[in-house]
Amino acid sequence: MELRDGTIRVLPQTVVEKIAAGEVVERPSSVMKELVENALDAGATRIEVSIEDAGFGAIRVTDDGEGMSPENLKKALLPHATSKIVSADDLFAVSTMGFRGEALASIGAVSRLSITSADSHEGLGYRIRSEGGSLTALEPERHTKGTTVACRDLFYNVPARKKFMKSRKAERTTLTRAFEQLVLPFPSVHFTLSIDGKRLMDTPPAANALERVAQTAGTQFARKLVLCTAESSSMSATIYMSTPEDATPRPRHQYLYVNLRRVDNDSVTYGIRQAFSRFIEHSRRPSWFCFLDIDPTRIDVNVHPTKQKIKFDDEGKMFGFIHRTVQEGVAEHITPPSSAERPPFNLDPPRPRSFTVAETTPSSAEDDAEDSSGADKGVQVSLPLLSLADPQERQTDKGVDPSGDKSVQWQKERWSLIPCYQIHRRFILASIKNGILLIDQHAAHERILFEQALADLDGGASDSQRLLFPVVVELAKSEKTVVLGGRKQFAALGFDIQDWGGNTIAVSAIPAVGFLRESAVKDAIQEMVEYLTDEPSSRFYAESQKRFAAAYACGAAIKFGQELKQEEMNSLLDSLFAAQNPYTCPHGRPTMVRISLDELARRFLR
Ligand code: ADP
Ligand code: MG
Repeated sequence: MELRDGTIRVLPQTVVEKIAAGEVVERPSSVMKELVENALDAGATRIEVSIEDAGFGAIRVTDDGEGMSPENLKKALLPHATSKIVSADDLFAVSTMGFRGEALASIGAVSRLSITSADSHEGLGYRIRSEGGSLTALEPERHTKGTTVACRDLFYNVPARKKFMKSRKAERTTLTRAFEQLVLPFPSVHFTLSIDGKRLMDTPPAANALERVAQTAGTQFARKLVLCTAESSSMSATIYMSTPEDATPRPRHQYLYVNLRRVDNDSVTYGIRQAFSRFIEHSRRPSWFCFLDIDPTRIDVNVHPTKQKIKFDDEGKMFGFIHRTVQEGVAEHITPPSSAERPPFNLDPPRPRSFTVAETTPSSAEDDAEDSSGADKGVQVSLPLLSLADPQERQTDKGVDPSGDKSVQWQKERWSLIPCYQIHRRFILASIKNGILLIDQHAAHERILFEQALADLDGGASDSQRLLFPVVVELAKSEKTVVLGGRKQFAALGFDIQDWGGNTIAVSAIPAVGFLRESAVKDAIQEMVEYLTDEPSSRFYAESQKRFAAAYACGAAIKFGQELKQEEMNSLLDSLFAAQNPYTCPHGRPTMVRISLDELARRFLR
């Protein structure tokens, strides 16, 4: 071995090639990916992959594509030899997956490679071999039109790299996963994967990406995905994602494809995550498959050596686009039925709010809400559960509502009065466009009250309803201090509370809107106090206003066990869907579970 004396030497070409190869040929799965991409570039409709010994024995890819003429075959293994004349910069501008003409040369440098190819249907082809980079002459060989590339003894001449490989089992898993990711955006191509002689995957031509998802991830799983789509002048997005009910702490699939290429991008990932968090608590996440078709000039692929990460020219815009697409798509999925199904009578929530808030900040959404609910204020009829507007009044103000489009939208999207059933005095069952909806009555009411309370605490004061007889509540001294200290907040919510001396307080007025039955005032106050005196960390909100709002929501919301009338249930649903974030309670638990007709049909084995 030569001495390392600090002298600078030019490395021999064979070494340079091996180093370069390291970029493309990281592990068996990257070889498979390059070979499959070549087959796709050759227009194959059928691609068979077979793997031996986790890819270290052999990786064989056979396709029925265009094949190579003998002249082309001779050049295919030369470094920087490509028939897809492009530069790395406009990688995404071309329709092919390959771009640098490096893959075959690189793979050839670190394995025993053979390529057999025929460019006609006559059954005659040619074979070329490379062993550690040195090429043989062409030999004639039988082959149907298309190409077979076999890569054997990967890294046989680079023992150091082989050492870095994970276990055979881990490599097999990586191979299978890489295969899954490769086949998803090409539903019309029939792929098969065999490992050590066993057929692991077989994806016959599918009608669309969702069917392909079903083939790789399972039919049951795919059936539950929601489709979110959007289009703008320079891009279109097709996103399949889990419903809020199916989100999990560790989702199985989160794949982004840009112009059919599997890549990563933070704006897309965060856009989806954030939009989805509106529907469910943060610790649970959806699986998703996002296919973006975008003007290639708006992408920068040169941010990552293996081109796995990409940048968009306007990341903020991309975030917004994705965010909106997902939020609207998922919301649509849980949307109330259309007004065609609306029966003649009509009940409105006390404070309608814009349901579609994707583009508005919370505070401006709040403003819109005040606008569109202005007409309701004067016509409140106090019912035990929720105040309901006069339907006539609502009808007439439709045309002249100052909030314009938003209100029309609201009219369109809000809940219709449809039959609801209360189940075990806990849940509400309602039929919706595409299935059934189950609502947790307490969580749903909590969400409604929470948002109302936040608005009240933030400036406006809620209307009060005086009680005929004050309700006297006995509290521990410490609790009483909390209540009297928070009198301002209690007042903003619509409570009138006085010190009654000793351990007692007296409640002489309660919120006019949305509050529960008088008989439950005492329990509600006690529960609020309990909530407020709890360690902030042990509950959800440390911030005072939110904490108060959450305490109120928790204490005042209808409880399990409370029977609800038909109008009360409808009013509850109406208010829920008018909320800014109808899908979770203030603590992040879901307020509703949707079961699709598909799912029901499946349960009945239809
Ligand atoms: P690139 O894909 O970037 O062009 P490769 O080294 O992967 O570079 O392939 C070199 C060339 O070999 C390709 O441009 C293509 O002309 C030819 N080739 C490789 N694989 C196939 C195949 N399966 N069918 C037809 N031609 C192929
Ligand atoms: Mg290639």
